[in-house]
Amino acid sequence: MPTALLRAIPKVDLLLGRAEAAPDLAAAPRVHLLTAVRRALDELRRDILAGRLKDVPGPDDLLAVVRLRLAEETAPSLRPVVNATGVVLHTNLGRSILGEAVAARVAEVAASYSNLEYDLRTGERGSRQAHVESLLTRLTGGAAALAVNNNAAALLLIMAAVCGGREVIVSRGELVEIGDSFRLPEILAQGGVTLREVGATNRTTLEDYAKAIWPERSGCLLKVHPSNFRLIGYTGQPTVAELASLAGPLGLPLICDVGSGALGLKMPGEPDLAEVLGAGADLVCFSGDKLLGGPQAGLVVGRADLVARLKAHPLARALRLDKLCLAALEATLRLHLDPDRAGRDIPTLAMLKAEAGELRARAESLRTALAAAAPTLDLAVVEAEGQAGGGAAPEYPLKSWAVALAHPRLSAERLEAALRRGETPVLGRIHRERLLLDPRTIRPDQFPLLAGAVAALESLTGGE
Ligand SMILES: *Cc1c(COP(=O)(O)O)cnc(C)c1O
Repeated sequence: MPTALLRAIPKVDLLLGRAEAAPDLAAAPRVHLLTAVRRALDELRRDILAGRLKDVPGPDDLLAVVRLRLAEETAPSLRPVVNATGVVLHTNLGRSILGEAVAARVAEVAASYSNLEYDLRTGERGSRQAHVESLLTRLTGGAAALAVNNNAAALLLIMAAVCGGREVIVSRGELVEIGDSFRLPEILAQGGVTLREVGATNRTTLEDYAKAIWPERSGCLLKVHPSNFRLIGYTGQPTVAELASLAGPLGLPLICDVGSGALGLKMPGEPDLAEVLGAGADLVCFSGDKLLGGPQAGLVVGRADLVARLKAHPLARALRLDKLCLAALEATLRLHLDPDRAGRDIPTLAMLKAEAGELRARAESLRTALAAAAPTLDLAVVEAEGQAGGGAAPEYPLKSWAVALAHPRLSAERLEAALRRGETPVLGRIHRERLLLDPRTIRPDQFPLLAGAVAALESLTGGE
């Protein structure tokens, strides 16, 4: 039994006293220091009980553990990472990033009172939607618009306010899971509608929709972008215009969830918003942080009477957008008014538009910076494939160039983990036993930071 060892564990107060006496720890807030000390001692106890330790470490070694735990304790949980994966709309890494000017608008609005719901002309209560509605209608050609928390919220609200209690007619080929267990049918059901599935997984005809329509029972026709799922081979779905020609005369709203929502951005397989509305969709909904390149939001554009119903529904209050997102959304939409500026100043668009030649040059300069920082690593510029991500155009990889990293002794997995766990985490992609860093999604001002992270790999040993 390790009783003697357990007894030799210092008391909390003793170790805390030593920590407070250490010059670099003295200034740490006591509450964090105490937690760090307790965690260090708990670990020690566990290691002894598990037979992993033969001796109680000396005071210096214990203080080293306290320092590590203190750093964890005080570090923010949500923090910036370097996205070197080449996936532009990486959902786990926060999808779109905001450009400098847009981020500055957010900071400005965050630190000040604002006219969020106040009409400065009349001195009366205003609508928070006023800041984005006319921009959205100008950009898409829709008659009215509404912004809510995200696209899932937009769908939920549409179902509840426009189709509530009735049947939603939707193709079996479009009832997809969008990722992270977000299944479309389950969200729709929460809107109080009944799903009326039509067609087969691979083919649905206009006739299938027509046969499912019943007066009094049908609430709407819904067309959903299949996100990162694709049907190939013997397939078929009616177009938006064909569905509109069926739904229109019967007075049934045609709802289109286009997912990413390309605005003046030509991407294969991604419907243009203005075209979908022009083809006769009554309401179109899409995400704010995918191809639009803005903050998290769900945007709805289309018929004014239907949008009015969305605004009046009690759920609209529960799903409303907060002022920081609104500030970012307004600034992003303003950039979209000028497509050239949008392509330059909206990072998502600039990353998607970056040409292979330019990326090769950026990969070369990244390689040079990394080689200077870490001369023993094997670094090469190689052809690579990036992705739009976010369910957009999944079958079209983006031609890219990346820096491939290899270490004389360590595996690519070990390099990947070390960069991921660094002070500023760097996330790369393993391909053929090398770690790829794709400059498409790395801001050039992050190159020095990346060089520092890669320099630290030089001193790694095989352990862990
Ligand atoms: C991404 C996506 C959603 C969900 O959008 P969020 O903004 O993440 O809620 C819904 N529908 C489609 C087709 C999508 O691609």
